[in-house]
Amino acid sequence: MKLQMVDLGGQYKKIQAEIDHSIKEVLSSSAYINGPKVHAFQKELEEYLGIKHVIPCANGTDALQVALMALELNKGDEIICPDFTFVATAEVVKLLGLKAIFVDVDKNDFTINIESIKSAITPRTKAIIPVHLFGQCANMEEIQKIAKENSLFVIEDTAQAIGSDYIFKEGKRQKAGTIGTIGTTSFFPSKNLGCYGDGGAIFTNDDVLAEKMRKMVNHGMEDRYHYKYIGVNSRLDSVQAAVLSIKLKRLESYNSARKNAADYYDKCFADYKQITTPKRVDFSTHVFHQYTLKLKDVDRDKLCEHLQNKEIPFGVYYPVPLHQQTPYKEERFSETNFLVTNELCKTVLSLPMHTELTKEQMDYISNTIIDFINE
Ligand SMILES: *Cc1c(COP(=O)(O)O)cnc(C)c1O
Repeated sequence: MKLQMVDLGGQYKKIQAEIDHSIKEVLSSSAYINGPKVHAFQKELEEYLGIKHVIPCANGTDALQVALMALELNKGDEIICPDFTFVATAEVVKLLGLKAIFVDVDKNDFTINIESIKSAITPRTKAIIPVHLFGQCANMEEIQKIAKENSLFVIEDTAQAIGSDYIFKEGKRQKAGTIGTIGTTSFFPSKNLGCYGDGGAIFTNDDVLAEKMRKMVNHGMEDRYHYKYIGVNSRLDSVQAAVLSIKLKRLESYNSARKNAADYYDKCFADYKQITTPKRVDFSTHVFHQYTLKLKDVDRDKLCEHLQNKEIPFGVYYPVPLHQQTPYKEERFSETNFLVTNELCKTVLSLPMHTELTKEQMDYISNTIIDFINE
């Protein structure tokens, strides 16, 4: 059995004719960057998300950077980020000379902890970057409330949760990334909506910010060779947009395939107290960018070795908390503030998760893990 963490080849085979045709159209159009396909995809994504403005860009890291640039912050301003996330979230903060203030995450859903945000706020705090980790939204209603009370911006890092619904207490639903001041996402190939190279996008309902960010991703250019802002070179190319339009039409079905796979895994592990399967919160749907187990009384290193021997791919997202990484350390960080993240980094394990997983594959993966636990 040939197992992969993400089966992009299998997914491509099913849409190959449509993809190849659309890419060939780009090749003969010569509109390789910001062509009609980029514009079409932008409109389709705006409609799908129910947001006024989508600004396509080159990757999810640039999306975060441009979002921060647009907010006109000052050196030393503090940005609250979860300690348990991919480094890009905090990297752009530091690149811009801002302070990344890490806070702990929730022990059940692994997204930014609300009480920890409250205790981290100082007069220099300017923004919060919640990450909708592994496919599930952070508690946006609470975050928006804190942001309002303290006049903070909210940038939603939606790189892992495109298509997920935030569910408000009164039942209203809104797409992840469309609730805060700005939302960002990544179209890296392995993300839930992935292209065949790098890609990203920024979302906002704010007309002024949108116009500014649209210029900023293209060197801050206002009219041809006249510049209004310092910008970056961060454009989406037309080949990627062609792929994304085709895959966006299938995103709902891709995400439900992931959810079905997750539900199946859950059943396989249901009887084992050493394994905690991903918790579903009631304020968000889950699009399972990752299917991540939490292990208890299991030697993770030995289990990983066992999986390797059985040729089962796995991931440890993430092995080291960001507050402990050399470029991100701060005097004010104390280990007692990061109890959940510190524990998660030692106990999480992500299993293969993608749109092409079969029950047979999941049986093999789960049985291999269960055999190890039972030994
Ligand atoms: C993937 C990812 C990013 C960065 O996206 P790139 O397109 O690789 O730059 C940012 N934040 C999170 C949480 C991610 O998972």
